[in-house]
Amino acid sequence: ESSSAPNFIRNQIRDEIEAGRTGKIVTRFPPEPNGFLHIGHAKSICLNFGLAEQFGGDCHLRFDDTNPTKEEQAYIDAIKADVEWLGFHWAGPVRHASDYFDRLYAWAQHLVREGKAYVDDLSPEEIREYRGSLTQPGRPSPYRERSPEENLDLLERMRTGEFAEGEKVLRAKIDMASPNINLRDPILYRIRHAHHHQTGDKWKIYPSYDFTHGQSDAIEGVTHSICTLEFEDHRPLYEWFLDNLPVPVKPRQIEFARLNMNYTLTSKRKLKLLVDEGIVDGWDDPRLPTISGMRRRGYTPASIRKFCEMIGVTRADGGLVDIAMLYHAIRADLEDNAPRAMAVLKPLKVVLTNVPEDHEEVYEVPGHPARDDLGVRKVPFTRELYIDQDDFMEEPPKKFFRLAPGKEVRLRNSYVIRCDEVTKNGAGEVTELRCSVDFDTLGKNPEGRKVKGVIHWVSTAHGVPMEVRLYDNLFQVEQPDKDKDADFLEHLNPESLVVCQAIGEPSLREAGVESRFQFERVGYFCADRHAAAEGRLVFNRTVGLKDSWAK
Ligand code: ATP
Ligand code: MG
Ligand code: MG
Repeated sequence: ESSSAPNFIRNQIRDEIEAGRTGKIVTRFPPEPNGFLHIGHAKSICLNFGLAEQFGGDCHLRFDDTNPTKEEQAYIDAIKADVEWLGFHWAGPVRHASDYFDRLYAWAQHLVREGKAYVDDLSPEEIREYRGSLTQPGRPSPYRERSPEENLDLLERMRTGEFAEGEKVLRAKIDMASPNINLRDPILYRIRHAHHHQTGDKWKIYPSYDFTHGQSDAIEGVTHSICTLEFEDHRPLYEWFLDNLPVPVKPRQIEFARLNMNYTLTSKRKLKLLVDEGIVDGWDDPRLPTISGMRRRGYTPASIRKFCEMIGVTRADGGLVDIAMLYHAIRADLEDNAPRAMAVLKPLKVVLTNVPEDHEEVYEVPGHPARDDLGVRKVPFTRELYIDQDDFMEEPPKKFFRLAPGKEVRLRNSYVIRCDEVTKNGAGEVTELRCSVDFDTLGKNPEGRKVKGVIHWVSTAHGVPMEVRLYDNLFQVEQPDKDKDADFLEHLNPESLVVCQAIGEPSLREAGVESRFQFERVGYFCADRHAAAEGRLVFNRTVGLKDSWAK
């Protein structure tokens, strides 16, 4: 069985609690509502909500919404739905960084009064140039020594919309020579005459991520502010604000390595491009690593949580996680929990010549070989059936234990049949097989010979037509965005979606929205939620049967 991997943050918090250094913990999951959540976010969600669950603390859901032009209410709604679907519950109301805009503004005025922030008139390009580089110290802006009175006045006029975008910014006055570039007078506010999805037209200036994040954590009483390693260099700034503002508590920032997975993009910006260009069917396309796409593909919340447990949490950038591990997690869940059914993806008609036209038998077959609670299904057997084209070969190689001219095979849950005759069309394609049944083989081996192969089948009279969508990795290479200068779209897999007009056993007619099945010998499938809403039977392949994850 797959086990859990190390989680250094969990260990650290356990130690703190045992030593009495931490009381009730408070974590938060802080998405920016500028796209849908993906599997990388799932790692952060499982970590933050999981710690709160495990240690009896709270986890807040807070939208980090300081960038109004890229954000939308629709993304907020989708993100909430995804977190709930994963089975987590945020403590208290849904929060927004924008709920704190008044307080943040008052804190900016506080820094100005203390001589720790100033309004700068340099252009964005000049600011970048003055900031210097890793090898070169920055230079002070000519506006750096403005008086607190002048700065307060200018800041207020920035707020009320007197200046154009880009004309002025508010900066902290820290250290233009700091080896950490984040401390070279970082920007606190930018002018943006933009409508905000929460605050409407109230603000003409918006706070930066750095000025917002730690203070929002402090306002909410967050104890452990967990983020990815890119923010390690921002930690001194995070702490500078907490040390220089009258905040109620001082949260601690802890960084961990983000999830990167082969064949998978984990960047909202790149996923948005795939959606906007129509390369995929919306944010919940089953080929995307979005949580809603994975849901539509047939992943269960339990499998995603299991996967996040398996990958662990470290500070070491662990390279690429093998997507086979994710497939392993869902396959193990469905192996145990998905009812079985027979479905023929590429139908080939079989006529059983020694079965009368009006003959009908109905087999009662277990829903799952090891789960009595999954009941039984009724599988009708008639003179005409479909089998899969791949289960027949006119000139089979030696170890082909399926159907071939003159050869025998067992129909799953039914008789052994022999192929007597092959019918072809003008193009030489096989259109029908004429076979005969050995009636002495139901539930027992045939006399005097071994029949190794078992194939699935569906009665033509009772089968249900359905669309089956075979999904595969969206990209053909392990790291589609490895080369920063190349176009990752060049690595798209042209066969990431193959659609089949399939025939399923009658029990599938009643398949509920998002119900999951193992189509025997084929793979795991999930009834598409959108198609189901339109009354159409469409199954998405979640994952194949073969596990390639090497532990
Ligand atoms: P993206 O680059 O995809 O836009 P982001 O970090 O900008 O991601 P946010 O909405 O800010 O997106 O992320 C919310 C939280 O999820 C953050 O705490 C972030 O660190 C975490 N997160 C995002 N991507 C990953 C990842 N690949 N692995 C682990 N955590 C992640
Ligand atoms: Mg972010
Ligand atoms: Mg981002």
